[in-house]
Amino acid sequence: MTIRFGNLRPKKGNIHINKERCKGCGFCVEFCPRDVLELSEEFNKKGYHPPRVVKADECIYCQLCEAICPEFAIFVTLKKEEEKGEESESRP
Ligand code: SF4
Ligand code: SF4
Repeated sequence: MTIRFGNLRPKKGNIHINKERCKGCGFCVEFCPRDVLELSEEFNKKGYHPPRVVKADECIYCQLCEAICPEFAIFVTLKKEEEKGEESESRP
């Protein structure tokens, strides 16, 4: 269930994965609060399984995956429509 406060909308993120940097530790998969990621079947050049996005719409832009990745192999950007929404919400 999504809790809404006035016109505030939950943030949404776009997830970017650098597969070749990944070492397949699975931290991003394990600690994502919305189960957005899973380890893929594919191998990168180092022989690890990088994550893949399985529930893109569930991402809340918490950036935990980005913070926890020891290889700087994943980062998240705020979705454009949410940036516009926040701008209008912050004005009187
Ligand atoms: S930003 Fe948060 S919700 Fe989105 S994929 Fe990363 S850990 Fe999951
Ligand atoms: S936390 Fe980083 S290195 Fe570990 S599986 Fe996720 S992307 Fe790969």
